[in-house]
Amino acid sequence: MIGKIDISIRQSDLGQGDLCLESLRRRDRDPVIEPYASQLARGNAVHAAIEVCGNHMLQHDGEPTPIDIMERTLDALIETECDMVEDWRETRAKTESAIRANFEEFYWGIAPDLNPAAVEYPFRVLLDEDERRRIWLSGTIDWIDKSGRIIDWKNPSKPYKKWEKVRWDPQSTVYTYAVAHADPDELGIPTLRQGSLTRDFELCMLVDGTAHWITIERGPSDWAALVDKCRGLADLSESDLKTWPQSWNSWYCSPTWCPNWNTCRGRHYADLLGEGVAPWEKK
Ligand code: SF4
Repeated sequence: MIGKIDISIRQSDLGQGDLCLESLRRRDRDPVIEPYASQLARGNAVHAAIEVCGNHMLQHDGEPTPIDIMERTLDALIETECDMVEDWRETRAKTESAIRANFEEFYWGIAPDLNPAAVEYPFRVLLDEDERRRIWLSGTIDWIDKSGRIIDWKNPSKPYKKWEKVRWDPQSTVYTYAVAHADPDELGIPTLRQGSLTRDFELCMLVDGTAHWITIERGPSDWAALVDKCRGLADLSESDLKTWPQSWNSWYCSPTWCPNWNTCRGRHYADLLGEGVAPWEKK
């Protein structure tokens, strides 16, 4: 008997697909190497520093790495990350100071209330299975606390709007599903809250040294809707369509953000306006 087809969907695929399915197809099948941008360096440096500190907390019952060691670690991370930047969207000085301020907010303002059960927790959980196919969800959760909190660290230039995240965010649905269906012995926390079938996902947005929080509750209805959404994506990825539907109606479809602009939508304006210019920017 022929085995079942296994389809793996990463949580980031869902976010990218929501921005534009064609951009998701191109990212996986025909990727464009993008210049390393300063906002990526900012996020990666803070993430890496939190991971170092979090791993120390894991091994020392919630005790963070001593601050003098963390300061040296942060200096090294800043130098490495900033030296790699090819596309400065804000100055190096501003990027460095945002990294320091955001990590300090984590260290002094947030970490004292935490005791991690897992840091950078990789998961691969079964979402759906029929006689022909299995759909798996995968990703890496930034922080799962012994208290049951599921936290994702973001370093945006400004806080997100809560109503948008509650209405549209797929990451919260995927992560809560993964934790609710994980092996409780492996995680060391109850997989579902006592007396409740839902779980909370917390987005912690570190912006210039201030933490902004959005809590999103997800439960069985959200997870059932996720199954339908992923079935559609799995059908699409199994098809041999040469292109996938384009979405033009988000901030992403622009020469500033989509690395495919010049070979996709933007190629129809290049002769007229030049590469990397959008029609709505025409003087
Ligand atoms: S240019 Fe627009 S339509 Fe084309 S892949 Fe990018 S976001 Fe999608």
